[in-house]
Amino acid sequence: MNLNNRIFNLIRLFTLKIAKRRSYKYYKLYKKNQYQDLEWVKKDQLTKLKEIIRFAYDNNNFYKKLWDENKVDINIKSLDDIENFPIVTKEDLKRQEESLLVSEPFKKKKNVIDYTTGSTGNPFKVIKNRNCAAERFGLSKYLGSWYYNMPGTAWVRLWRANLKPTFFDKIKFFFSGQYVISIYDPTKPNESALDSQRLNEILSEIESKRPPVIEGFVSALTLFANHMLTNNINLSYQLKSIVTGAEQLEDNDREQIEKAFNCHVYNRYGGTETSAIAHECHVQSDSNHYLHILDGHCLVESEKGTEELIITDFYSRALPLIRYKNGDKGVIKCDFECSCGISGGIITNLLGRTNDAIKLPNGKMISSHLWHNYMKKCPNLIQYQIIQYQLDKVVIKYIISSTKNNEEDSLLLVKNLVENALTNVNVDWEKVDRIPPSSGGKITQVVSYVK
Ligand SMILES: [Zn+2]
Repeated sequence: MNLNNRIFNLIRLFTLKIAKRRSYKYYKLYKKNQYQDLEWVKKDQLTKLKEIIRFAYDNNNFYKKLWDENKVDINIKSLDDIENFPIVTKEDLKRQEESLLVSEPFKKKKNVIDYTTGSTGNPFKVIKNRNCAAERFGLSKYLGSWYYNMPGTAWVRLWRANLKPTFFDKIKFFFSGQYVISIYDPTKPNESALDSQRLNEILSEIESKRPPVIEGFVSALTLFANHMLTNNINLSYQLKSIVTGAEQLEDNDREQIEKAFNCHVYNRYGGTETSAIAHECHVQSDSNHYLHILDGHCLVESEKGTEELIITDFYSRALPLIRYKNGDKGVIKCDFECSCGISGGIITNLLGRTNDAIKLPNGKMISSHLWHNYMKKCPNLIQYQIIQYQLDKVVIKYIISSTKNNEEDSLLLVKNLVENALTNVNVDWEKVDRIPPSSGGKITQVVSYVK
């Protein structure tokens, strides 16, 4: 079946307009304001920021108490006034009773519940009021238009899912247009493992559906890219784009994926709590790889000194996220004018998570970026995972392609570089066939049990 069937696209578009009217309204609103100038963008943000702060103060016991205790003046005059508000973390929110955390008007309403994948700890319950969920869906449709995924068109998502879709899954796929192919089924970890056979099966499924767009985890797409390049496999049709999310995208992974699939990669940054936060446009996908901050949806700050990201979501009212530190780091710029026509904030560089650093016996911390820089010096290295069990004990699991030349030489170079950086640490290298994903289906590249 070809997913580009025009009649099917029209049915899906009709479903979106009727069954998800509110989302469609947000989609249209974002499209309408896409190319507004910087002044308009900032004014719109200030209006939305004032609204959510006022709402949280009047309706949410957690924020009211927090702000009163910190003697915060909630009558803000400019966007910079947000700096007077205390920062909240996931741990702060997890500690609270749900009755304190959920805003009064939504306590008895039917909200949409989600959980973070818990790759860095216990899952966090995300409570979304219906308007917030509709805005997020509309926003995702609007973003789709940046990478050739127009409302109504179907695409393939390589994600955590049932290995064999149920009847209900198939109905949902059809009407949503989002055909999920399992790259990891937590109930069937061995059968769904991405070995050569499974990769070929999925590629055949993609061929049969011929989606214009594929979305997936970086770690899974990197395995596909390597498999395709090693075995000279090409898709028989022209893919329009690949969208990556949920994991850090390094330049060398992007290059491999673009080469194998013969199309541009568009990177997205976001999280379950806040949905999408920033996204690459067609200009950035092909140049600097800056991500446009979705200024109409949220306000993003980068903490001075630590570069930790702080997010304020304009639409999440059941569970407001105001100055929420999500554990990621990044460099931002607030007044960028891109040649695509979009003005506003950008993330120029995502720096990974705050808790993926390795602590050395001498007290120094090493950021995960160093490992990416070293590992890419061995082109045969397909995937790796660094696990720090103790201050002086690290295990490095790695998958290496044995069909390429000079495997030993380039691997030896990488091993030397890594071991030199890990001063006074015992390093065990384990060559493996696969690295099991965490419960959410992601590969956590650096895991440290040292607090
Ligand atoms: Zn742009």
